[in-house]
Amino acid sequence: MQLFPNVYEISSEFGGRWLKQYLLRGQDKVLLLDTGVITTPETVIFPYLEKLGLFPRNITMAIALHVDGDHHGGLPAIKNASAGTLLGCGRADVALIEDPDVCYAKRMNFLAEKHGLGFGREVMVYSPEGRKIDAPFSGGETIRLSPDWEIEVWHVPGHSEGHLAIYDRKNRAAFTSDAVQSNGYPTVNGGVAFGPTYYEVNAYLNTVHLLESKPIDHMFGGHWPGMHGDSVRKFLASTRAFVERTDELLTAYLRDHRRGATLKQIILDLSPKLGPWPQDMALILQFAMYGHLTRMEQGGKVRRSTTTPVTYAVA
Ligand SMILES: [Zn+2]
Repeated sequence: MQLFPNVYEISSEFGGRWLKQYLLRGQDKVLLLDTGVITTPETVIFPYLEKLGLFPRNITMAIALHVDGDHHGGLPAIKNASAGTLLGCGRADVALIEDPDVCYAKRMNFLAEKHGLGFGREVMVYSPEGRKIDAPFSGGETIRLSPDWEIEVWHVPGHSEGHLAIYDRKNRAAFTSDAVQSNGYPTVNGGVAFGPTYYEVNAYLNTVHLLESKPIDHMFGGHWPGMHGDSVRKFLASTRAFVERTDELLTAYLRDHRRGATLKQIILDLSPKLGPWPQDMALILQFAMYGHLTRMEQGGKVRRSTTTPVTYAVA
């Protein structure tokens, strides 16, 4: 789908959800934002390029806006098809993207040992390979696509430490991948697949604030419908509201559970109050909920036990 002249949304269905990449076709550079899972380039992106009369070798750079199998998983397939295409991502995500074992341990299973949470090897089938990143971004860079067309690279952490967004000045459009997530991830049928998956609460809220301060007329994410005008503000407001509601529910929950509760128990009890996703998707809240509890602990409101699994109680 063409969004603006020379700007395209490449959308496919993945796991009952939308999965979107974006192509910015300048005269001097062609940029691909996000790469899908390992099979997405061959099955979705390259056929789309062909319709535009382009080949994989025409992609100057493919930027994975953050680490996660459905966003960086396609990097190896792009490099295999076009050795000259540069691979980019946020600096803090480089180690995780270059090595699937590091991603598995540090992003998917960092709660395994102390909290009995995490995910099995099957989550890695969409991004089983690493590739060297040619272009790490810190945020603040600009890239000239045509003599009269420049884009900005923004650092928007929270969901991942190195999360990037791309801002197209000409169209006043921000490509934000999963940097902000409203009340969760929609299904293609109009439901909610699962809740938000931010990790660092303060970073995530700062990202909402940053995006609110920018002249964004259009916002395009990795799994959400495109937003325009007032719906951009609403999406950002609902992103913040979810965080605040989670804080409130957690505070009330811990007040009612003086002896403390494990992270897993807290999630299973609060999940139905936070959103309409299926209860078997509740544990995907582990990243956000751990982020909240860690922030409350740092603020002196909550203490964690030294037992395994860890329990949390009001300080
Ligand atoms: Zn995603």
